[in-house]
Amino acid sequence: ESLGPTVTVGEILVEVMASEPGDGFLEPITLVGPYPSGAPAIFIDQVAKAGASAGIVAAVGDDDFGRLNVRRLAADGVDVSAIAVSPDRPTGSAFVRYRPDGGRDFVFNIAHSAAGEIARTAAVDALIARAGHVHVMGSALSMATAWPVLEAALDTVRRRGGTVSFDPNLRKELLRGGEILERFRKVLAVTDLFLPSAEEIFLAAPGAATEADAVAELLGRGIREVVVKHGAAGASRHGADGGVHRQAAFPVVEVDPTGAGDCFAGAYVAALRLGRAPAEALRLAAAAGARNVTRRGPMEGTSTMAELEAFAAASGA
Ligand code: ATP
Ligand code: MG
Repeated sequence: ESLGPTVTVGEILVEVMASEPGDGFLEPITLVGPYPSGAPAIFIDQVAKAGASAGIVAAVGDDDFGRLNVRRLAADGVDVSAIAVSPDRPTGSAFVRYRPDGGRDFVFNIAHSAAGEIARTAAVDALIARAGHVHVMGSALSMATAWPVLEAALDTVRRRGGTVSFDPNLRKELLRGGEILERFRKVLAVTDLFLPSAEEIFLAAPGAATEADAVAELLGRGIREVVVKHGAAGASRHGADGGVHRQAAFPVVEVDPTGAGDCFAGAYVAALRLGRAPAEALRLAAAAGARNVTRRGPMEGTSTMAELEAFAAASGA
């Protein structure tokens, strides 16, 4: 952590959700929100709340949806100096409704919102110049404006002796070739810590037959640590030294699964950067994921380090 803050780049959004499950938005329904959201924003909020230094490069509109997000991030300790305010585009938004089968319907306003107005300003370069760790959110790889900033951040931070983590968090349809796949490979080639979900690991190791094969292949390519997330079935951490740690999920009642992976990664990166051992970081990360799913709203369940420790201790795992 002494090298400088953990920095991420990507979308800030508000989320508005249907109160009741059902199909889509084709009739008036009761909605609740706006909630602060965006995978990179949830991640960085959790890093800061856990007590590690953190900053985000992003853009919002000059509207209450933007102010809601910036205020929340700042209140939780995130450096918001590199969040640009677009003069003419609204803050990005996502309307979501859960279907009875657990699937989700969305209406997005992201591509043509302020979220895509990321640029290399003096404030962005200043944050990158101080950074000690870059976390790449796969969702940002599909943003044309985020990529040059990410490339600069990866380059600068690695030159300074800093480290890189990568949560692929990307729909596989986006990786069928072209420049997003190229960006994905470039990030993977400089990743120290890879945090895929069970399905996503095969995006990085498409030839592998099993998860164990995929992990071995990625460690063989020089990634130092692979942490695989399995939702309510827990997570496992594999080190380049051959060490394996498994962590069961803490039993909770799931209210809203959105954001669990982002909180998990945020707590894991924060704990490692604060000097915790990998097994301890994994336990705190599982606590962060579990706590987040108990709250409605993707960023409402981020936790302080004290909350994570108390939760893990009380759950006895
Ligand atoms: P996201 O939908 O946010 O992208 P993800 O697929 O990246 O999620 P998950 O595996 O869903 O990540 O969740 C990350 C971690 O959070 C899990 O490994 C687990 O420790 C914890 N977690 C997630 N869901 C639950 C749950 N229902 N109960 C307890 N813990 C959970
Ligand atoms: Mg994820």
